[in-house]
Amino acid sequence: AKRAGRGRYRMFEPGMDELLHRRREMEIDLRRALALKQFEVHYQPFLDLASDTCIGFEALLRWKHPVKGNIPPLDFISLAEENGLIVKIGEWVLRTACKEAASWPGDLIVAVNVSPLQFKADTLLETVASALEKAGLPAHRLEIEITEGALLDDTDNVLDTLAALRDLGVKISMDDFGTGYSSLSYLQKFPFSKIKIDRSFVANANADSEAILRAVAGLGTSLGMAITAEGVETLEQLARIRGERCTHVQGYLTGRPMAPDQIATFLAQSNRE
Ligand code: C2E
Ligand code: CA
Ligand code: CA
Ligand code: CA
Repeated sequence: AKRAGRGRYRMFEPGMDELLHRRREMEIDLRRALALKQFEVHYQPFLDLASDTCIGFEALLRWKHPVKGNIPPLDFISLAEENGLIVKIGEWVLRTACKEAASWPGDLIVAVNVSPLQFKADTLLETVASALEKAGLPAHRLEIEITEGALLDDTDNVLDTLAALRDLGVKISMDDFGTGYSSLSYLQKFPFSKIKIDRSFVANANADSEAILRAVAGLGTSLGMAITAEGVETLEQLARIRGERCTHVQGYLTGRPMAPDQIATFLAQSNRE
């Protein structure tokens, strides 16, 4: 142990104090990150399996911390949700993704993750409408990805907002499907345009996850929803999901998340293949 002043000792193993301290530091840094332009959006392609072409990209937030380097979203998004910063950060992601997508060729879609907290803030509809308008992006080129957390409470408000977004022409997809408590019940609450099957069901090549993959794809198909298999990393996994009525694929095999300036090259290469 090292002396840390006032008779307190700081252990090498992080104790409760140390963890709280790190958290507070991260929170202070996070509050400044937007103003200091430390965020970037990277984009991961998703492909239509019928035509084998890239039809859009998912926007994934990146934090380039000047000292700590790249901090992955899973390490700061829950903190940003606890202190409410996610509303401002999420708004920035929406505006940035719409602006960047407006320069992409053709009808490529941009899919943006929206936190349940952004629904609670009650400004989501206005934010989306204004982001589309400022960017000059047609609404049908935007997809909003929500997790079932958004539908846990205050459901009526959330459903109204989703319906209003859909009326604008925005697509709504259910993300991480199968990981929550009662994913199935959410499917009848709202006509999602797409279900994204969590990568845990794609990665595990056992009989159970295959049965689940098959059932969800069948269910989505009968409900008229598109089905994306997430996290496809190998050709074996790709072959498996092709056999299971999935309509879209997203994963390291078909493209890693990339900086916005890499998109043109990626599209040129994938069109040539
Ligand atoms: P997600 O929405 O499920 O996004 C997919 C995650 O899986 C991304 O991680 C992506 O890089 C990763 N991934 C894609 N293909 C593969 C693969 O083949 N193998 C493996 N092992 N991983 C793959 P990332 O970028 O670290 O994001 C993690 C999570 O953070 C996202 O999961 C999403 O829940 C959240 N997130 C990211 N950006 C935002 C954002 O702008 N707003 C909000 N609210 N959440 C975000
Ligand atoms: Ca997502
Ligand atoms: Ca997901
Ligand atoms: Ca996830």
